[in-house]
Amino acid sequence: MRIEVDRDRCEGLGMCEAMAHEFFEVDDDEVMHVLDDSPAEEHRQQVFAAVNSCPVLALKLVG
Ligand code: SF4
Repeated sequence: MRIEVDRDRCEGLGMCEAMAHEFFEVDDDEVMHVLDDSPAEEHRQQVFAAVNSCPVLALKLVG
């Protein structure tokens, strides 16, 4: 599976980081970085929850 980010939508709100800090990090400038965009299958549930937590629908899980 792969994490896709719509950069036009992301506002650096950090909900994704709160749900899965191993995969998402918001820096001091409120820019979100995906730390690992191809998570192992065992992390699907956590990553899925983080993707769904984004209030502006900037995240998508593919595959
Ligand atoms: S929750 Fe959404 S808007 Fe906030 S940092 Fe993550 S992707 Fe960006």
